[in-house]
Amino acid sequence: MTARFDLTGKTAVVTGANTGLGQAIAVALAEAGAGIVAVGRSAMDGTEALVGATGRPFRAVTADLATLEPIDRVVAEAAGLGRIDILVNNAGIIRRADAIDFTEQDWDAVLDVNLKSVFFLSQAVARRMLADGRGGKIVNVASLLSVQGGLRVASYTAAKSGLAGLTRLLACEWASKGINVNAIAPGYFRTNNTQALQDDPERSAAILARIPAGHWGRPEELGGAAVFLASAAADYVHGIVLPVDGGWLAR
Ligand code: NAP
Repeated sequence: MTARFDLTGKTAVVTGANTGLGQAIAVALAEAGAGIVAVGRSAMDGTEALVGATGRPFRAVTADLATLEPIDRVVAEAAGLGRIDILVNNAGIIRRADAIDFTEQDWDAVLDVNLKSVFFLSQAVARRMLADGRGGKIVNVASLLSVQGGLRVASYTAAKSGLAGLTRLLACEWASKGINVNAIAPGYFRTNNTQALQDDPERSAAILARIPAGHWGRPEELGGAAVFLASAAADYVHGIVLPVDGGWLAR
């Protein structure tokens, strides 16, 4: 059975892989055997060292996914490591303000990175996967705010809710072509994304009190779900949003 989770010989493109959840996902996929193409706007040194320690191939592709401009180049450079078998759309930003004061700039910035670029990168990679004739796996990093409302993060909730819908649409269109599209919905993990919440003693305590597992997520606790959805073990899994949240949604 373990062979079904083995990613040896596969190439995985992971966006936003320099830190946080993207780095943890890249390392987990490498530990399962995949070569990693780490896409992002910051240096990937830490991720390169961690992936290198697994003995798997690694390539960094510099790209700012705030616009669609780099997408064709990202796919071309990623394919240089071999076929693209797996795409993890992890890069994302968040802007916090009361809805009553929310600006167009904070709306557009989040929608552009968290939804628009995800769609067009998925489209470009899927075209490549279909041309290669062997299908593949696309894993989107969604959020609890794909299914809940949240507070003070209007554009983020809109984008992540949209991403859940997009995950289902792409699954419906591409399942028969051999491409699995699914999402992971992380709960509250200790990364840059949640720094403001971690720094707010009241919010931080309230969040912790609601997590049945009794601790904030550690990035490495997301790796197993990513490996599963990227592997043959998930060949008949299409269009799901898999919570990895310490039981938050069960509460
Ligand atoms: P993070 O540490 O802030 O990581 C975000 C990643 O996205 C970084 O690598 C960042 O690169 C990259 N990124 C942002 N804007 C980009 C752009 N324009 N072009 C290329 N890369 C860009 O936070 P994280 O928690 O690991 O977030 C990863 C994903 O998980 C996000 O989609 C986030 O919404 C989602 N998520 C996180 C949590 C959580 O509790 N932490 C919960 C639910 C969902 P830089 O380092 O260069 O900024």
